[in-house]
Amino acid sequence: MTSSISQLRNIGISAHIDSGKTTLTERILFYCKKIHAIHEVKGKDGVGATMDSMELERERGITISSAATNVEWRDYSINIIDTPGHVDFTIEVERALRVLDGAILVLCAVGGVQSQTITVDRQLRRYQVPKIAFINKCDRRGADPLKVAQQLRERLGHQAVLMQLPLGLEDKLEGVIDLITMRALYFDGKSGETVREEAIPENILDQAKKAHEDMIDHLSLVSDELAASFLDGNATVEQMRAAVRRGTLSLALTPVLLGSAYKNKGIQPLLNGVVDYLPHPGDRQYLAVDVGAGAAEAAVPLLASNEALPVALAFKLEDGAYGQLTYIRIYQGSITKGTELTNTRSGRRLKVGRLVRMHADAMEEIETAGCGDIVALFGVDCHTGDTFTHASLQLAMTSMFVPEPVISLAIKPKDNKSTDNMSKALNRFTKEDPTFRSFVDPESNQTIVRGMGELHLDIYIERMRREYSVELEVGKPQVAFRETITCATRFDYTHKKQTGGAGQYGRIAGVLEPNEESDYEFVDKIKGGAIPMEFIPSCDKGFRACLPRGTLIGFPIVGVRITIDDGNSHPVDSSDNAFQQAGIGAFRQAYAKAKPIILEP
Ligand code: GDP
Repeated sequence: MTSSISQLRNIGISAHIDSGKTTLTERILFYCKKIHAIHEVKGKDGVGATMDSMELERERGITISSAATNVEWRDYSINIIDTPGHVDFTIEVERALRVLDGAILVLCAVGGVQSQTITVDRQLRRYQVPKIAFINKCDRRGADPLKVAQQLRERLGHQAVLMQLPLGLEDKLEGVIDLITMRALYFDGKSGETVREEAIPENILDQAKKAHEDMIDHLSLVSDELAASFLDGNATVEQMRAAVRRGTLSLALTPVLLGSAYKNKGIQPLLNGVVDYLPHPGDRQYLAVDVGAGAAEAAVPLLASNEALPVALAFKLEDGAYGQLTYIRIYQGSITKGTELTNTRSGRRLKVGRLVRMHADAMEEIETAGCGDIVALFGVDCHTGDTFTHASLQLAMTSMFVPEPVISLAIKPKDNKSTDNMSKALNRFTKEDPTFRSFVDPESNQTIVRGMGELHLDIYIERMRREYSVELEVGKPQVAFRETITCATRFDYTHKKQTGGAGQYGRIAGVLEPNEESDYEFVDKIKGGAIPMEFIPSCDKGFRACLPRGTLIGFPIVGVRITIDDGNSHPVDSSDNAFQQAGIGAFRQAYAKAKPIILEP
């Protein structure tokens, strides 16, 4: 299916772990596949690719990969970008957030807003992603979706507007009331595939009317123009939906839908919500950086048009039986087989060979992909985060936020074969995931891997075992603590050595103080040549030499500013080395007095 931009939705499903994201995704695939069956879309090579394609993920019950799956609902093409919920995989979440236009925030009707909900909500905010909330598990004992909607308002500051009420709750959950159409929806058939619409039962009609009015009040706030119709009491369903859409796109409100993925209730209305309320690619404004403009890097707005020159971002690499697959999101223009593109980072050119769309159950070979779409390329050598453009453009999609690794682990291959394969694997993983790093520690000659958490590293170690047959000895995880100081302190230190021939002499005085702007800053306030110009860099070098290992517990020192304002030198005994030594001595003396503390990641 080729869709126009307005018929495209790129969505993510963000959730606290265990809130039912996997179950919901499965149900969405199921209901949309019904439509697939009618249209009969089949992958040419018949290769299966499901959301949880990696065996390992299935075992762990978490979804690591953020690949995209395409489904169809009504006349719309929806790309579901998998946003992993586990905090250890923040970079994967960040990446997914770069390429999606809207999101479903899933909450549990019992657990409500939890710490991880706050984390994913913050991420959605950072990328200004419009969202709808889905309160799942309304069939569970203790389910209280109205309370959860209230938590969305109070704890997350959302203008949460209920679009539905539950029809019954807990084990008596029968369906949902649509507050726009004021109809009761039931989900019949073996898997809830038939939506039955009826009048709202008498016993909750008053409650529904009240909720409908509340909804109207909220919508009036985002749409002056429609407020009038609302006041006259003759607002149409279309006007109400338009108001919800407008409010959602402008981030002024969060429509709240509810149901139970497990009991197959409320999923089709949620899919309607996705197409009715969440943005299409042209509704969002995306910027690229013009790297051709030299130092004056300017942000360039991209055009949501198929006719413009192509700009696409590679956001995910995947190794599979079918070779390397590179997932791209097209931000501007369109891409066809044979299109020539340039990788902005490497300057390398490539000609698009095979272009595919991933479905839940098959890979579909396609000729062309339009603006806003998410597809995959075969056999392209690149890094995640690379931008592909028309050769005449020098644009890069703004860099992704990459957090510093917080934990490290020593690994040692058990035999030669493992040594070779380990380096292949590390090469691959570090290319895929910028939060996963590896290096050889020069002191111990050990290979150290660093990542965002124990689970993050575990996953890669297991992938090395399984996919690359690497047998490893694994050390104990080390948390990347940091040290810093909590108060300013003056120092005055003299380094003096008289051993046989030439002596060493240098005196440095100044202030060591906390610094919130950067990890380290050196300020030179020496007047009248108290320390000769040529030895100023030596002082700086000496201080820097102390930073990698603090004296408190031996972890790197961050957040310090050191100002030198006095000193002394000797015409013969002063040297670069003498002042470096003085710098080291001065730093140690000051550091011990500046009340050092340990920082946790
Ligand atoms: P994820 O960690 O967010 O992907 O959550 P899962 O989809 O794996 O679901 C976690 C657990 O909750 C599983 O045991 C599901 O069967 C269950 N679950 C998911 N949705 C519902 C629901 O709507 N109602 C009930 N009662 N259980 C659900």
